[in-house]
Amino acid sequence: MILIVAEHANGKLSKSAYELASAARGLKREGGVTALVLGSGVASVAASAALIADQVLVGDSAELAQYDAEVWSAAVAQIAAEGEAEVVLIAGSRSGREYSPRVAVKLDAPLLEDVMSLKDEGGVLHAEHYTFLTRVTERVEAKAPVVVVTVKAGAFAPAVPGTTAAEQFDVDLELPKRRLVVTGSTKEKTGRIALIEADIVVSGGRGVGTPEGFVQLVEGLADQLGAAVGATRAVVDAGWRPYSEQVGQTGKTVQPKAYIAVGISGAVQHLSGMNKSKCIVAINKDGDAPIFKIADYGIVGDVKEIVPAMIQELRK
Ligand SMILES: Cc1cc2nc3c(=O)[nH]c(=O)nc-3n(C[C@H](O)[C@H](O)[C@H](O)COP(=O)(O)OP(=O)(O)OC[C@H]3O[C@@H](n4cnc5c(N)ncnc54)[C@H](O)[C@@H]3O)c2cc1C
Repeated sequence: MILIVAEHANGKLSKSAYELASAARGLKREGGVTALVLGSGVASVAASAALIADQVLVGDSAELAQYDAEVWSAAVAQIAAEGEAEVVLIAGSRSGREYSPRVAVKLDAPLLEDVMSLKDEGGVLHAEHYTFLTRVTERVEAKAPVVVVTVKAGAFAPAVPGTTAAEQFDVDLELPKRRLVVTGSTKEKTGRIALIEADIVVSGGRGVGTPEGFVQLVEGLADQLGAAVGATRAVVDAGWRPYSEQVGQTGKTVQPKAYIAVGISGAVQHLSGMNKSKCIVAINKDGDAPIFKIADYGIVGDVKEIVPAMIQELRK
């Protein structure tokens, strides 16, 4: 059995859960794909998970209202052990990266971290991941009765939900007492959709000229399209944008339906974070810019003229 831990937020299954389901479907294991949903009041999330898995296990209790690494790792390890899971797939999110090593220790299992690919050959899991600040792509294999894996966001195409819902089962969890309590939080003031969840991403590079140019052109276009905002490392390193917006090898991997690259040259490190986007539109004044090699639509011209014209048209 393959166990996927389905993350969710604001009552919706996260994109990572669909990506985990897709990664799981590529493996040749008996017993199908089981999704585990943990939280409080998660009926609608479990219903969504039932469309991408063969069965859904639901841990729904007030104790699970808030994420906690000790509680989550205990729950996941318990379910994996009881179900004799051979592979446990966890999202490579901040929380997934935090609790997955604890799950691996509890199950006495090897941990494959932040994998970009996963193959199953004769009961051996083969994976690829970046190491040495992403300068090296490492190939690893795990030979063990149970393996814990975290999956890099955006590395797998999200699974398409089926039309028949799988059966759901409530689980009894033996949870440890919480030792950490979140005493408060401050949310970043942005109404924008998260980069890795978005269907449309508008990304800006050095070609937008200045931080003000970025706001006017990239944010302006993203506002019209209801899109997330991304940036190149050059822009992030210059302090124009926060690191959280960086797309690429050392940033986020995105796979939206549409990716609009504004003033981006298309360095290989940037491309590796967005080249699986369904439709790529590039705007660059240099007709030989490498970004045009992977773009579905290219506009050769000055972003300061083209993007305001696009915004004006969209406003109409
Ligand atoms: C180990 C390592 C990891 C890295 N990781 C990442 C990563 O995760 N993400 C990432 O993005 N980069 C990464 N980089 C950096 C990467 O190599 C490039 O330097 C970077 O992507 C370039 O960003 P850019 O396209 O904004 O800038 P540039 O390469 O300077 O390109 C700017 C482009 O804008 C165009 N332009 C200029 N003015 C205009 C205008 N007025 N109108 C239209 N077009 C215009 C130019 O023709 C040019 O093509 C990494 C590098 C290393 C060594």
